[in-house]
Amino acid sequence: MRPEKMNTPNQGIKCVVNSCHYYMSGDHCSASLIEVQPRNANSTQETDCATFIPHGQA
Ligand code: SF4
Repeated sequence: MRPEKMNTPNQGIKCVVNSCHYYMSGDHCSASLIEVQPRNANSTQETDCATFIPHGQA
């Protein structure tokens, strides 16, 4: 999945992953949508954003 990078923050998402292509200052995400994995996770720490792309690799 390769969502569009928007010019404005996705207001429904707070993200602190400042090494991501989609990260915007202020702890925002500029992806039009994100995907979270994995299925059957049992804790917050087990889940993560599958839409993440390392900064500079997009
Ligand atoms: S795509 Fe995921 S990791 Fe990247 S800024 Fe958005 S929520 Fe954070």
